[in-house]
Amino acid sequence: MRPVTLAAAVLVALSSAASAEETAQQSTQALLPEITAWRRDLHEHPELSNRELRTSKFVATELKKLGYTVRTGIAKTGVTGTIKFGKPGPKLAIRADMDALPVTEDVDLPFKSIAKGEYAGKTVGVMHACGHDAHTAMTLGVAEALAKRKNELSGEVMFIFQPAEEGAPPGEEGGAPLMVKDGVFRDFKPDAVIGMHVLSMLNVGQVSVREGGAMASSDTFRIVVHGRQSHGAMPWKGVDPIVTAADIVMSAQTIVSRELDLNANPAVVTFGVFNGGERFNIVPDKAVLDGTVRTFDETMRQQALTSLGRIAQNVAEAHGATVDLEIPKPGADPFHSNPVNYNDPALTKRVRASLVKANGADNVSEAERWMASEDFPQLGNAVPAPSVYFLIGATPKGQDAKTAPSNHSPKFFLDEGALAVGTQSMLQVAIDYLGGGGS
Ligand SMILES: [Zn+2]
Ligand SMILES: [Zn+2]
Repeated sequence: MRPVTLAAAVLVALSSAASAEETAQQSTQALLPEITAWRRDLHEHPELSNRELRTSKFVATELKKLGYTVRTGIAKTGVTGTIKFGKPGPKLAIRADMDALPVTEDVDLPFKSIAKGEYAGKTVGVMHACGHDAHTAMTLGVAEALAKRKNELSGEVMFIFQPAEEGAPPGEEGGAPLMVKDGVFRDFKPDAVIGMHVLSMLNVGQVSVREGGAMASSDTFRIVVHGRQSHGAMPWKGVDPIVTAADIVMSAQTIVSRELDLNANPAVVTFGVFNGGERFNIVPDKAVLDGTVRTFDETMRQQALTSLGRIAQNVAEAHGATVDLEIPKPGADPFHSNPVNYNDPALTKRVRASLVKANGADNVSEAERWMASEDFPQLGNAVPAPSVYFLIGATPKGQDAKTAPSNHSPKFFLDEGALAVGTQSMLQVAIDYLGGGGS
């Protein structure tokens, strides 16, 4: 190459496509003051699930400024922003959640929340105790960095800002299943869906991801045991639903301990409610059991739910009682069940490589299974498209992350160093997926 051509090429590169030379970390550093300011503003103005009006307006305004095609009002307050890059290529969806929790903040910050809201008929404190303020701010940062690379990247991206991840208020629909129902993917069918979450159980600087079942399925069930009421002194005159229900609770323990292949995956059957009776000397006519089944594998999920029904039915029969079962069929009621948050193995390998590129191999770990559930996998399942969900450490360095106040605690504290880590991680994943950086 002649010197003059080289000089011209350098000039062109500098003037028109400076961001091509910029790493994900450099882009993130440049945007960090803005991302931090967004996060603090959102933190000070948290909104409960399905009430994210201010947040949603803010997100839509910023996305429009960045040149995204914006859709609002999906699942009440949900927002999407899409953009087409310079060359044809794959379609990527990136999801952030926007809602806060009915928790009164107990962290002394200059931007501490003193917000109040209405939840289940009560006035409650409202706090971003799960870090969705950070998710929204970081994801907007990624949107900004990608918009600057519009001509260099291939394919298309859709940012999904989702309401009500924590669950809609009683009696309302919301969250990922309502976004699906409202046609979030009507005009955009992604080839992959990526999400991230900040986590107290990891120190800041650390990023974590796991192939396969990463977060549990969650199925809420109810078993109503019908007996026959009698005097407590003469139980032989009735059928005792309390003894029957107790036997169901105990027998159901064998689902996990005797029936499921625990070598493959752990599982949980928990009874959280056991209600029955009015008075010490009356055998009541019914007892109600509510609980949850958690698994990391869809086949195991199906097996656990089927076993629960069989045990409840047959134990009741053994006692001469009957049961009404409200045990969900997987997928039948997306508003009360979540599937396994399954990280597609092939996509996870690609995402992990990007996380390593952005943060260094020492800072990327294999995530432990997390028995909590998320509605995030409902997005990928609806397309269907593979999805990956990774975790960003939130607890300050030097503090024991195992004992730090957890997400949902009034003392949940996000070290703002996590904002850079989360933004550069998601940005690198997106750049690599959308064909940037020469990969
Ligand atoms: Zn949460
Ligand atoms: Zn959360």
